[in-house]
Amino acid sequence: MTDYTKIDTYLEENLDESIAELSRLVAQPSVGAQNLGMRECAALVAGMLKKRGFETRIVDTPGAPVVYGERKGKSDRTLLFYDHYDVQPAEPLELWETPPFAPSLRDGKLYGRGVSDNKGHIAARLLAIDALLAEFGELPGNVKFIIEGEEETSSTNLHPFVRDHLELLKADACIWEFGGVDHREVPIEYLGLRGICYVELSVETAAIDVHSGLGGSIFPNAAWRLVWALNTLKGPDEHIRLPGFYAKVRKPSARDIELMAALPETSEVYQEQYGIKGFIKGLTGGVEMRIEEVFTPTCTICGLTSGYQGPGSKTVQPARASAKVDFRLVPDMDPADVLEQLRAHLDAEGFNDVQIEFLGGEAPARTDPDDPFIELVCNTARDVYGVEMQRIPLSGGSGPNAPFIHDLGLPVASAGLGHPDARGHAPNENVRLDLYVKHARHMARLMVAFAK
Ligand SMILES: [Zn+2]
Repeated sequence: MTDYTKIDTYLEENLDESIAELSRLVAQPSVGAQNLGMRECAALVAGMLKKRGFETRIVDTPGAPVVYGERKGKSDRTLLFYDHYDVQPAEPLELWETPPFAPSLRDGKLYGRGVSDNKGHIAARLLAIDALLAEFGELPGNVKFIIEGEEETSSTNLHPFVRDHLELLKADACIWEFGGVDHREVPIEYLGLRGICYVELSVETAAIDVHSGLGGSIFPNAAWRLVWALNTLKGPDEHIRLPGFYAKVRKPSARDIELMAALPETSEVYQEQYGIKGFIKGLTGGVEMRIEEVFTPTCTICGLTSGYQGPGSKTVQPARASAKVDFRLVPDMDPADVLEQLRAHLDAEGFNDVQIEFLGGEAPARTDPDDPFIELVCNTARDVYGVEMQRIPLSGGSGPNAPFIHDLGLPVASAGLGHPDARGHAPNENVRLDLYVKHARHMARLMVAFAK
C-alpha cells in the first residue's frame, strides 16, 4: 500500500496556488459560441502543461485548436485525460453575483464561468500531477492530455482529429472530463453517454406571408405542413415511426438492470423540481422508469417557430415554419442512420418539401461496468470519498466519448469535482474547494495505481 500522507499534505499546502492558477485560466474568456479568446486560452493551457514538463502541441483544426500534451513516466502504462478549455456563454450577465470572468472566492467555493465545466478539472488534475512530481520526482506512468476547444459546440472537429492522431493518442485508458458527487455526496461513475442527432426541419410555402383571408382557402400553409410532418414522427403512443429506427437498439443487460436498480428513486424529486404532474408512457417511477429514462431513444421537439406570436391577433398565413428536433440515441444506434431514415420517412409520407438541416451528431458509447479500469477508478475513489462510487451504466446526456471508446479502443471512466449545485452552463457556476481537493487526491491515487 502506498502511503498518501505526503501527497495529501502537498495538495492541501498548494491549494491556494492551484486556485490562483485556475483563476487565471477562468479570467481568460474562451467562449466557443462567440469565438472569444479561443487561441489565447489554448496557449494558456499549453503553458500550464509545459510548466509540468509536458511536451505540448497546439494543433489547428477547422474550428478551435486542440491542445495536446504528454509526459513520460516510470512505467509504460499510459493514462489519457480528455478535457476541454472552451466554456458556455456567460449570459445572462445580470444574474451573476460576481462577474463571470473575474473569479471570486466565497463560502469555500470559487465562482466563475468554466470553474467547474471544465477548467477546474484541468487545474485539479495538474495539481495532482504536481503532487506526484514533488513526491516521486517523476510520474508513475505516462500521462497524456487532449484538451479540445469545441466541447460546448458539439465537438465538431474532435472525431476527425482523433482518427488522424491514433498513434499520438495511443493509451491504455481514459479519464473523462466530468464527474462529481450527487445530493448524497456519493461520487458517480458514468459508464457511457447517449448519442445525439440534432436537426432543424424547415418548410417554405411562399416567398412572403399572405393575408389569411386571401391564402387560407387556396394557398399552402407552412405551419400546417410542418405540424403534419412532425405528427408523422411520433404519435401519442410515444413510438418513433422512422422505419428501422429501433433496429440497432441494444437492450440493457442483466448487469445494467442490477446497477439501475441500485440507484436512488428520482420520481418525486423530478415532480417537485420540474412541477410535472406525472410521466409519459404510464410510468410511475422505480427501476422501470430509470431504465426507460436512459435506455430508450427519443425524438424531442426542442423548439417551434412560425407566423405571428405577438399580442392580440394577426390574420396571416405564414410562408415559413421551422422546428429544432433532437434524437437521443442509445447503443448501438448511429446518427448517420437516423438522418437517412428521417429523409426517407418524410419523403415516403409526402413531405419532400420539408428540408432537413443537420446541426450535429454524436454516436452513443459506453464502457463495460466491470472493466478492470472502472474497478480501479472506483477502488481509488473509496479511500478519498469514504463511500463506494455509484456506477450508472448510461448517462442521459451526450458527449464525444465514441471516438475514444471505438476508435482508440479505450475504457473511459468519469471522475470529477462537480456537485448538484455547481450550476454548469448557468449563472454563478462554482466549484467547491473541498471537492476540488478530493478530485486531486483521487487522481493522484489513480495515477499511482494505474501505473502498476
Ligand atoms: Zn459543458
